[in-house]
Amino acid sequence: MDRDRILLTPGPLTTTLRTKLAMLHDWGSWDADFNAVTAGVRSRLLDIVHGHGTHVVVPLQGSGTFSVEAAVATVVPRDGHVLVLDNGAYCKRAGKLTQMMGRRVSTVAFAEDAPVSPAVLDDQLRTDASITHVVLIHCETGAGVENPLADVAAVCERHGKGLIVDAMSSFAALPIDARTVRFDALIAASGKCLEGVPGMGFVFIRQAVLDGCAGNSQSLAMDLHDQHQYMAKTGQWRFTPPTHVVVALAEAITQFVEEGGQPARLARYTANCATLIEGMGQLGLQPFLKAEHQAPIIVTFHAPAHPAYDFQRFYQAAKRRGFMLYPGKLTTVDTFRVGCIGAIGSLEMQQAVNAVGEALREMGIPTAPA
Ligand SMILES: *Cc1c(COP(=O)(O)O)cnc(C)c1O
Repeated sequence: MDRDRILLTPGPLTTTLRTKLAMLHDWGSWDADFNAVTAGVRSRLLDIVHGHGTHVVVPLQGSGTFSVEAAVATVVPRDGHVLVLDNGAYCKRAGKLTQMMGRRVSTVAFAEDAPVSPAVLDDQLRTDASITHVVLIHCETGAGVENPLADVAAVCERHGKGLIVDAMSSFAALPIDARTVRFDALIAASGKCLEGVPGMGFVFIRQAVLDGCAGNSQSLAMDLHDQHQYMAKTGQWRFTPPTHVVVALAEAITQFVEEGGQPARLARYTANCATLIEGMGQLGLQPFLKAEHQAPIIVTFHAPAHPAYDFQRFYQAAKRRGFMLYPGKLTTVDTFRVGCIGAIGSLEMQQAVNAVGEALREMGIPTAPA
């Protein structure tokens, strides 16, 4: 078939034709026209978190993880001590990259089927005064849990600690208001809930901490303070920008605003998630998380407990029907994941459920409510 398959993954995502068409031109990286696109994107990103006047947003080339690494390298002094609130795979990645950049790291472990606990964080900060920064993953994409950003931010503020938020899979869908939620750095990327294409991240940095970040980074390419200074002076990216990704993001943000911004996007993803969970339930497939912990971003399902089940065969059978699923990322239970995000609606989610049902029946696995 010559239609693109629907990506039910946590990025890259299915994008609109308008976003794809935006990439059909060449842009000079130093040219005023392209600089205006970058400036417009940055300004509209600040609109989304209500950060004008209090925060800057610094874009960076690369996948989302590059920007997480850059945020830690830029915001945490070399003798800083980072506490990672760990309830899943992306938390572990943040801990690992922090350690690899030579910062002292401590981890507090939580179950992967529930949010991290602000009360436990409060205890940790009380007992270890050497901690300078806390890392929180807003939506832990590993299982799909929504973590309590506002409560964690309040605890950090009360203790006078820095907070670095990986909001990669939540930004533009879940509400984030920089006027009421205090963070030092918050990271997201082009190819997630803004529905752009992958290739760049961006980090919101609180203006009050930005000046103190000079010289923190041990990496030239990852130095967001330097990237910001250069951009402020010249309007240009320091090194070759991902021009096509930037113009696609500009077009994606225009559509985000037309749709009604974050509340509208959350409403669409919430409907997608409800359609998915309802339909999969009718096939006998149960979500891994309790409903109250589930972010409407990506849903982890228990794999069918049938001897004929095999993820690779299941994946191929769903792919032939036009839908790309995602493997599970849990260590203890056999699961698979289905994303609710991207330029798709309830209709596509219902079609995905139908495809999953057909795929299972083709494998000889009965589909009926448990
Ligand atoms: C997608 C994602 C990232 C970044 O992953 P990349 O593969 O580097 O783009 C980081 N954190 C979370 C929570 C994510 O969902």
